Amino acid sequence: FLIIVLCCSAKAKYLTYKDPKQPIGDRIKDLINRMTLEEKIGQMTQIDRSVASNEVIKNYMIGSVLSGGGSVPAKQASPFTWIDMVNDFQKGALSTRLGIPMIYGIDAIHGHNSVYKATIFPHNVGLGVTRDPVLVKKIGAATALEVRATGIQYAFTPCIAVCRDPRWGRCYESYSEDPKIVKLMTEIIPGLQGDIPAGSRRGVPFVGGPDKIAACAKHYAGDGGTQLGTNEGDTIIDPKEFFDIHMTAYYDAVVKGVATIMTSYSSWNAVKMHANRLLVTDFLKNRLKFKGFVISDWQGIDKITTPEHANYTYSIMAGINAGIDMFMIPHNYTEFIDGLTYLVKNKFIAMSRVDDAVKRILRVKFTMGLFENPLADYSMAKYLGSKEHRELAREAVRKSLVLLKKGKFSTKPLLPLSKKASKILVTGSHADNLGYQCGGWTIEWQGLSGDITDGTTILSAVKKTVDPKTQVIYNENPSENFVKSYTFDYAIVVVGELPYAETSGDNMNLTIPEPGPTTIKNVCSLVKCVVVLITGRPVVVQPYIKTIDALVAAWLPGTEGQGVTDVLFGDYGFTGKLAHTWFKSVDQLPMNVGDQHYDPLYPFGFGLTTKPRNNL
Ligand code: BGC
Repeated sequence: FLIIVLCCSAKAKYLTYKDPKQPIGDRIKDLINRMTLEEKIGQMTQIDRSVASNEVIKNYMIGSVLSGGGSVPAKQASPFTWIDMVNDFQKGALSTRLGIPMIYGIDAIHGHNSVYKATIFPHNVGLGVTRDPVLVKKIGAATALEVRATGIQYAFTPCIAVCRDPRWGRCYESYSEDPKIVKLMTEIIPGLQGDIPAGSRRGVPFVGGPDKIAACAKHYAGDGGTQLGTNEGDTIIDPKEFFDIHMTAYYDAVVKGVATIMTSYSSWNAVKMHANRLLVTDFLKNRLKFKGFVISDWQGIDKITTPEHANYTYSIMAGINAGIDMFMIPHNYTEFIDGLTYLVKNKFIAMSRVDDAVKRILRVKFTMGLFENPLADYSMAKYLGSKEHRELAREAVRKSLVLLKKGKFSTKPLLPLSKKASKILVTGSHADNLGYQCGGWTIEWQGLSGDITDGTTILSAVKKTVDPKTQVIYNENPSENFVKSYTFDYAIVVVGELPYAETSGDNMNLTIPEPGPTTIKNVCSLVKCVVVLITGRPVVVQPYIKTIDALVAAWLPGTEGQGVTDVLFGDYGFTGKLAHTWFKSVDQLPMNVGDQHYDPLYPFGFGLTTKPRNNL
């Protein structure tokens, strides 16, 4: 029997593209020469998992599948369920004529945030505060392992938007209003993908193997510069400003070998980025020499034309001719496939453009070893939510906190808080709410409230930190009478924004919702207090800043609440510096560092410090 197997497999046709010893360029050439138009279009199509199946992938020769925000196989699915699902889709792809593996993508934007029990890192708004590229690179590596733990090979991260207006609902996905900090943070890319080998040509994508994932720099470009901070709006600025502020981090991403780049829903000077040939083809591909693939955003091409002139076939043509290579068509993929087929057959789209798109997609798949290792390895599941990753997230939380007001009481400063107090009050809507602590893009697209996954709320972190003899009284929203009925040494008030994602987060007044302000008033007017803000951006604090003794911006810290208490109680000092300007009132917006009439409450770069307790 053995002899027969040897004889027949030796006889199997040699295919250059299947031979890992051949240079990637030769493999791509060989494969593309074998492909039909139908197979090429399949590669350019990405569908959502909710409509995907082994058969659909096989029949349409689909090149990629995604989990759009919170599109998960089952609530609380284990990593094994995920791996089973991804492998089943992959088997569909492998059973096609040419056996080209599919690539599965997900929004792992602060850790593997759609997955139950994953480590949730602080959102980018907090990471920018750290100005620590080494830390961010480690977070990238940890995220890659957790994503691979569920069999997934691709993540739509990092968002390298430069948020110029906190009214934007995605400001928390932005590391900073300062392009220099955003550039520094592109160090997450080699964390996710691995370090590019020495001597690599600029712009050639690199993904270092089965413990790494393909990254996606997004949203190209100018997403954080829209008028009034409107999500998907128009960034109306001259080319110099546009390039200096919104484009420079893409240069770094390309140099670091980023595998993919996602176009933005927004426009630049009224031209939709999904149809912007100048920036996608002429600049990104030709000038910057980006050789990975450009992916559209979710139904991004649908938004190319105005509704009254909407014509889907036109949108496909405009998107492809602009230079988009892979199309996120979550549901109506047959309409896309038919439209694109028509356009190519009738020469509205050149075959050379289709080939360019497919070569780029294949290059990413070849470089990451997908042809050799298409199926996920169950032994990776152990990385999901590991102790090491939680420690790393806790460190990131510590470094992301910004102390805005320190507060002194008589001779003794309030911070660091005493662990040996006899009675303390922990209060506020966000003190014991893990969902709020993580914000949007956690388990579900818009985020959730309450006990949504494994993690430590700030209340439980306080309980773990203080002396066993200290009485911790918790009341979410106490009345004045309640506060008066006790004698507290101090209060920790944790309030903030409710979770949101994308357009639902656009907010013109930026106040924190009730009962937050009432809790601050009822507590801080009676007891010395530290207010910890859980927000995705600077918010209005001026009306009550005088009643507050100490004020901490904790942003959206994620699952590791102990990072907050590590610093509040002085095991570590406060070190964070604002990466987004803290305005006084919304009439000042937009207001950015370097502006002529810069008059913030706390300027960019501001952050008080404390020494760790053992150095006091
Ligand atoms: C967002 C992207 C995201 C995509 C897939 C879109 O709505 O703009 O940032 O990667 O959905 O979930």
